[in-house]
Amino acid sequence: MMSYGGMRFLGGTWRPGYLRVDGGRPLGMHARPRGEVVEALLLPPLIDAHVHTGDTFLRRRFSMMDLGLDAAVGPGGFKQDALAGADDATMVASIASCLREAEAAGVVWAVDFREGGARGIDLLRRGREAAGRGIPGGAGGEGAAGLMAPHPHPCRVGVTALGRPTGGDLEEVLSVADGLGISALRDVGAEKARLWVRAARASGRAVALHASEGEREDIGTVLSLAPDLLVHCVACTDEDLGAIARRGTPVAVCPRSNARFGLDLDVRRMTKAGVTVILGTDNGMVADPSPLAEAAFLVDEHGLTVEEALALAENAKVLIPRFAMPIDPVAGDCTVVEGREPGEALSGRAIATVAAGSLRMYEV
Ligand SMILES: [Zn+2]
Repeated sequence: MMSYGGMRFLGGTWRPGYLRVDGGRPLGMHARPRGEVVEALLLPPLIDAHVHTGDTFLRRRFSMMDLGLDAAVGPGGFKQDALAGADDATMVASIASCLREAEAAGVVWAVDFREGGARGIDLLRRGREAAGRGIPGGAGGEGAAGLMAPHPHPCRVGVTALGRPTGGDLEEVLSVADGLGISALRDVGAEKARLWVRAARASGRAVALHASEGEREDIGTVLSLAPDLLVHCVACTDEDLGAIARRGTPVAVCPRSNARFGLDLDVRRMTKAGVTVILGTDNGMVADPSPLAEAAFLVDEHGLTVEEALALAENAKVLIPRFAMPIDPVAGDCTVVEGREPGEALSGRAIATVAAGSLRMYEV
């Protein structure tokens, strides 16, 4: 018997808490430790609410470029061109390295907005398999993440695969994906989006979409699609945010991506309007897939307290039923990071996770 803990973040605040472990099995959260104690901070199970794993291989190249939002990730922009020109091996390695990075950052689940239609979803499946096997050093791509070496443990980050149709493969996408991760109404048009969403709902699939990232979009049209998750909403007015809050639609924000593209994210304005704000990490080529790094950025650059930033990580629990994730924070699923004082939570190294009741101890 052993225990991880000291302090646990729950319900937006810190309290004493210990994760008891016996023979590699997690025995839930307790107020007191039992057996040997590994000093640690117990955080909500980290869920990355918005990531594009596919473009991780472009990180080094992109870091040397100075492109605005549309030129970087818009239709016909750098990312779209590079993805279209990438072969399968590069894409698989890119996705696998992103998932490995996510795991190293303590992520238990990621919502991947996969480009490239049904083929894109198949590449994600293969990338997950490759991450699970441990991929051979230097395989494919540009080795952007530096995590391409063989790995002794299977990668256990769970993924919600959100696809987006390319041309005529809507039905095929819906047959292999968990749902739709639509670019934005201003890219695809409201009429097409409505058609897609109707088909997604008919096959019981979830729907998420980007909205008001660089420019404001009509929030009435966006909300008429009844999305399970919105992404960005940086350019929303207070009235728009109020409408989102009344619908109870969660919004994933990606602070480092927004900063990279010069977008004026204001998380406090969102929370004040009553919006449930969650952390995402956006493009793998822009930032590593670490919600804790996003939280730290909000503390350093936006003046949030550690607790305010961690509350956004905790908010991700609203996605669990929406995307049928087998994660149960109440039963003790969590991310364990090194540290004793709450202030260390955002810089602590992940040392264990519990997801779907299964313990993953990291190499220390
Ligand atoms: Zn995105």
